[in-house]
Amino acid sequence: MSFEDIPVPIGPVYEGERIRAKQMYVELGGPKMEKHFELCRVKSAKDIKDGQITIHGPDLKDMEEGSTHPIGILVEVAGPELEVDLEAVFERRIHEFCNFVNGIMHLNQRYTNWLRISKTAVEKGFNSFQLLGTVLIRLYKAELPIIEQAQVTFYTNEKEVEKPYEMAIGIYDKRDERARTIHDDDVDMFYGCVLCQSFAPTHACCITPDRTSLCGSINWFDARAAAKVDPKGPLFEIPPGDCLNELAGEYTGINEMIKKRSLGEIDRIYLFSGMEFPHTSCGCFEAIDFYIPEVNGHGIVDRNYGDVAINGLPFTAMANQTGGGKQMPGFNGISIQYIVSPKYQQYDGGIETIVWMNKGVKDRVGEFLPKDLLPKIATEEEVIDINALKQWLQDVNHPIVETWAEALAEEEEEEEEWEAEGAMVPMGTVGMTIPGVGGTGGFRVILKNCKIHAEAIIIKKIEPKRKKK
Ligand code: SF4
Ligand code: ZN
Repeated sequence: MSFEDIPVPIGPVYEGERIRAKQMYVELGGPKMEKHFELCRVKSAKDIKDGQITIHGPDLKDMEEGSTHPIGILVEVAGPELEVDLEAVFERRIHEFCNFVNGIMHLNQRYTNWLRISKTAVEKGFNSFQLLGTVLIRLYKAELPIIEQAQVTFYTNEKEVEKPYEMAIGIYDKRDERARTIHDDDVDMFYGCVLCQSFAPTHACCITPDRTSLCGSINWFDARAAAKVDPKGPLFEIPPGDCLNELAGEYTGINEMIKKRSLGEIDRIYLFSGMEFPHTSCGCFEAIDFYIPEVNGHGIVDRNYGDVAINGLPFTAMANQTGGGKQMPGFNGISIQYIVSPKYQQYDGGIETIVWMNKGVKDRVGEFLPKDLLPKIATEEEVIDINALKQWLQDVNHPIVETWAEALAEEEEEEEEWEAEGAMVPMGTVGMTIPGVGGTGGFRVILKNCKIHAEAIIIKKIEPKRKKK
């Protein structure tokens, strides 16, 4: 396969390339745009014009530098061995293949897709969606030889994206609906995915009926279909082995898999806990489940939420903590679909520990949550800080309140021990910003559920050194 006719280099080596706002020519989709999507559909050969690329809306070269646009990417494929169950996994490759292009940064999936095209790429002549479509079609056929014909359609303005967006949402919903019909106990095989290892080398997703992949785009049916057609590919079977802890969702097969795939870095996973041996998170999780020590409960925030969450941290700050293939107790990358699973974080207390969600998430999952619990989960519309949340939980009699007496007794017991040791203060979750030179930039330090022990704290003002005249 040759890309000589493409004006920028193409290859896996460019995955992970970051394009900052000031380096970008245009931004497509992402949090500033309401409607955008990417979708793959399996068609019959007669419905595909192999190699055809269609653009509805302005092309790249017609877009103003620095502007943001909606984007819809529809990849349609055909081949005698293809089946509809493969669509979601093929669709996930849009992320990977776009990132092969030197000068494109692609993030997320489905209706949260987000692309940036760099100024350098456009200057070199990568100024049309025709070129991106050509790259996608070539990569699809080369990397997935069961695809024999492919065509790509781009939608690049609000009017054009509207209808296919609605169609895409309907298809995602259908996939999710089907995923809710089976459970871990109904199957004897789990699946894994390592598509994100180029960004997070120690991360591997475990995909079971009750825990869909954290990117939300690959469910158990999708993974099964992909592993069947390409058993040596990025999606593979995980024989569960022995169940070591049913509540936690700990299996010998999963532990062996993660040990091998993380190169020994991680050797134990509790599928249904965000607090002990949590599933690793790469970077494409749809939402984060975070522990709120002050109320002994959990919050959920999704990546579309632009404000700070109830713990005072924005999604981006928590995402930095959560991602990268680490196991980070208290911060767990999850899919929206997993929230409605009957096994949702059941080792930590399950859905009843959820005390706060941003409204966008609550609206999406509300109809599937227990009717009596739903009105007791606060959103940004009811409370905006922890003290108000505490009061709200008491007022609505949220089940978490019952755990407080127990937690307090435990804390008191522990406090006695600390007093014997010295002055140790439980801090909960604390965020502090350390400004950079000149008061701008800097970095943020997050201390999670920490206890600080110090004989003395000295805070000293540092006077800036003046230059000698
Ligand atoms: Fe695969 Fe998981 Fe990445 Fe989704 S988040 S593409 S399932 S590794
Ligand atoms: Zn990922």
